[in-house]
Amino acid sequence: MVPKYVIVGNSAGGIGAAEAIREVDSEGSICIISDEPFPVYSRPLISEFLAGERTLDGMLYRPRDFYQQNAIEALLGQKVAGIDFPGARVVLEGSESLPWERLLLATGGTPIVPNIAGRDKEGVFTFTTLEDARRMERFLEGKPRVVVIGGGLIGMSLASALVKRGVGVVMVELLDRVLGAVLDEPASRLVEGVLREAGIELITGQAVREITGKSFEEGRVGGVVLQDGRQLSCGLVVIAIGGAPRTELVKNSPVKVNRGIVVDRHMATSYPHVYACGDVAEGYDFVYGTGRLTPIWPNAYLGGRIAGYNMAGKQTLYPGGTAANSFKYFGYPLVSAGMVNPQDGCEVLVSRQDRSYRKVVLKDDHIVGLVFAGDIQQAGVAFGLMREGVNVRPFKDALVRDDFGLTFIPQGLRRAGLGVSPREMVP
Ligand SMILES: Cc1cc2nc3c(=O)[nH]c(=O)nc-3n(C[C@H](O)[C@H](O)[C@H](O)COP(=O)(O)OP(=O)(O)OC[C@H]3O[C@@H](n4cnc5c(N)ncnc54)[C@H](O)[C@@H]3O)c2cc1C
Repeated sequence: MVPKYVIVGNSAGGIGAAEAIREVDSEGSICIISDEPFPVYSRPLISEFLAGERTLDGMLYRPRDFYQQNAIEALLGQKVAGIDFPGARVVLEGSESLPWERLLLATGGTPIVPNIAGRDKEGVFTFTTLEDARRMERFLEGKPRVVVIGGGLIGMSLASALVKRGVGVVMVELLDRVLGAVLDEPASRLVEGVLREAGIELITGQAVREITGKSFEEGRVGGVVLQDGRQLSCGLVVIAIGGAPRTELVKNSPVKVNRGIVVDRHMATSYPHVYACGDVAEGYDFVYGTGRLTPIWPNAYLGGRIAGYNMAGKQTLYPGGTAANSFKYFGYPLVSAGMVNPQDGCEVLVSRQDRSYRKVVLKDDHIVGLVFAGDIQQAGVAFGLMREGVNVRPFKDALVRDDFGLTFIPQGLRRAGLGVSPREMVP
């Protein structure tokens, strides 16, 4: 059968789209293509897999028979090598090609690997796929010291998995603090304290200049040299400095790309019948009021659903997402969302007690950003107020109180959706 809907990417975005298409169109053929060989799994759980806390079956985002149940053809372990836009065909590696009537690009992100000398040695990894975690396993058997390059979200989730496995970790971060993209300075410092208590050796304000080999096996990782000349021995290096939208399929194509693929509120690209969602796309960010990269799982799934509805002919607007994270490293909970390091013209409310810290950022009496660390009980309500665009002027002084909750919000301003729990913000 000729596929009517072709979806490149079998993850949050691709699955969201396939499910929405099936709600509208029970007949049209759907083909999902992914170069990963696995049925859809929850990518954020790869650290729990590495920690030995989950198996592949425990990470599956949908049951194994999902494709069969929804009459979806899944071409897993197959890479799309190119797209013929005028001919409306995707070209698979090996030169087979498939026609599409509607195409979705849900190709996600790709890890950034800087040009560090020695980066091609055996024992140098990135950490974004289940396969990365599987391949790393073998290298962890003798519990070698691991150098994690990057103190962002991926570095953090990897480090927590490694510590659970009893492996010594050195984290090297270029900036002067960890989680610089998602936290403000006071919250970063609290996390740094938690990391050190967990036994992680943290080196900030430094880059790795070179990855060196073992003395008797030059091709295999033996250590790293920092910019200041310091040498650290290790048996494994993981580069976790962040990701970039995986836009290779639309390079030099008629599809408009900024940092990611540009999409409108229908998740449509600039090329007719071609849609994009998830980490590869610049979906609408309701905090900034414009298209931006907001690379988190719930945004990818919701954006995929909206793309799917529109591909199947049901006109639907993407309500927007924003960069929001709820995480717990070494037992210490954190929530951050929107503008955490605000621009001029914003009002910042802060409260702090020992190891708990709350910050809410306001613009014209509307919440545009928040950071909760240590005690995140009230973060969900603050997030709901931000997402629903509620004017918080009448009760703003209460926003960072430790007993803040829905009861502080006048009845007339309460709306459905305000009581989001931090767990609902992420998968
Ligand atoms: C370690 C880690 C921890 C994370 N933790 C969290 C978290 O706690 N909370 C949260 O909200 N988000 C988290 N994220 C981010 C979240 O996983 C992503 O936002 C989400 O996976 C994006 O989904 P997506 O569908 O856009 O793309 P992806 O999940 O990146 O999937 C894209 C798929 O497309 C495939 N593909 C790409 N190009 C081609 C091609 N040419 N041919 C065939 N297949 C192709 C890729 O191989 C991949 O399988 C985490 C990410 C990582 C790596």
